Amino acid sequence: MSNRELVVLGTASQAPTRHRNHNGYFLRWDADGLLFDPGEGTQRQMLFADVTASQITRICVTHFHGDHSLGLPGVLQRMSLDRVAHVVEAHYPAESHEIFTRLRHASLFHDTLALRERPVQRDGVVTEVPSFRLEARALSHPVPTVGYRLVEPDGRRMLPGELAARGVTGPDIGRLQRAGRLSAGGQLVTLDQVSEPRRGQRFAFVMDTRPCDAAFELADGADMLVCESTFADADAGLARDYGHLTAGQAGRIAAESGARLLVLTHISQRYESRSAQLLDDAAEAFGGQIVLAADLDRIAVPKRARRR
Ligand SMILES: [Zn+2]
Repeated sequence: MSNRELVVLGTASQAPTRHRNHNGYFLRWDADGLLFDPGEGTQRQMLFADVTASQITRICVTHFHGDHSLGLPGVLQRMSLDRVAHVVEAHYPAESHEIFTRLRHASLFHDTLALRERPVQRDGVVTEVPSFRLEARALSHPVPTVGYRLVEPDGRRMLPGELAARGVTGPDIGRLQRAGRLSAGGQLVTLDQVSEPRRGQRFAFVMDTRPCDAAFELADGADMLVCESTFADADAGLARDYGHLTAGQAGRIAAESGARLLVLTHISQRYESRSAQLLDDAAEAFGGQIVLAADLDRIAVPKRARRR
């Protein structure tokens, strides 16, 4: 099991189909588990995908259309039922606070969950933990909507050959990492000599939106970009009318932002039997790796690029 992976719980926009549940995405990022946009049926999809309620440490909702949020009542109640003991933070557009409250208390249950609401008030950093910084940006959709991205801090990759050549071994490696310099065999060794910059990994989550600057900013340099592609390019007029992206537009966002892996999702039921068209449209614009998400897919965050 990869320690950084996307577990796809559902991939349908608006109406679920025989093969696609409403949206839902679980991002495993080391010890953290981020649940994005739990649509209706998410609790059961979690069961199929072996994701437990206690693995969720953070919930991020882009907006409160039903296909992105009607799973919240079930998931939150399940977390209480399972006695999830840790604090869970929830992020959503601040303008929709009332709707979140309604969903949280949609039915009667014994609420034991330590849920900390941290609505997104403005563009920028939402929260920071050691393994990532979570950022949000307002997207362009008919209702208040935000997209998210996770940015791991840059670090340094140790070079075993350089360490060995300078006689730095065992616990001295950790000391050198902490202090930045060390004396080994009568010689001063600096961290720069035995390591190289290691760029942090980035994950971007761009849901319902028209093409807009924020979508490109969120996707900037993403190792994995999860992007809505509700419509095929042939239906660009519908995408425009309803405030959505076509697969080709998702491809352009990935290409111009330097994303590495594009995950297409939020698929309209009209493409149930011809969703390959979406892949073709996106590939016209983006030469990198593209996955058309299917329910219960597990997609590893691509290994770090050596140098960028
Ligand atoms: Zn939607």
